[in-house]
Amino acid sequence: MRECTNCELHQTRTQVVVGDYAKESMCFIGEAPGYYEDKQGRPFVGRSGKLLDSMLEKIGMHRSEVSVLNIIKCRPPSNRTPTKSEMDICGNAWLNTQIKYLRPSLLVTLGSVALRYFFPQAKMTKDKGRVQNTDLGIPLFPIFHPAYILRQGNSMLEEYLSDFKEMQKYIIQTDKGTDPNKQQSILDDFF
Ligand code: URA
Repeated sequence: MRECTNCELHQTRTQVVVGDYAKESMCFIGEAPGYYEDKQGRPFVGRSGKLLDSMLEKIGMHRSEVSVLNIIKCRPPSNRTPTKSEMDICGNAWLNTQIKYLRPSLLVTLGSVALRYFFPQAKMTKDKGRVQNTDLGIPLFPIFHPAYILRQGNSMLEEYLSDFKEMQKYIIQTDKGTDPNKQQSILDDFF
């Protein structure tokens, strides 16, 4: 992945941001690396990442317990929104394989761009917090992007925290995350 030249974003990137892995746990999926991620080669290390970390801490979790990926692995110039073709190329080459390998208990998309990669017709306002099953056989829980929450000042922090609590409740209720047999079919498919 670090040598990928599948799309033109390889010409302007500093580093490919592969993502952080934690097998069979929740998998957060953002849009694309920004300035700091491109420099450091890790996902969500800027202000959005700090908010993600603090929300996880508030529900008693640590960032190291979850996977954090992006649809796109290379920073789009000036942080522009990735094109549909970039998302299709990168998603098919890398993200789908990462998901099959990691076998997460739940996909949690951050923001509308990541959500629409899986469900092109989806709308954040209508679909936020509604669990839907993906073609990969893994349920998906959409929440807002932390950058969007930061742009609202303090007004949406409480709501954001309750989305994280709902997500955790879903995991506990469905008892997902620890039994590898539950997702054996995905593994069989992959190998
Ligand atoms: N925003 C994203 O969508 N991904 C990152 O890795 C950082 C900011």
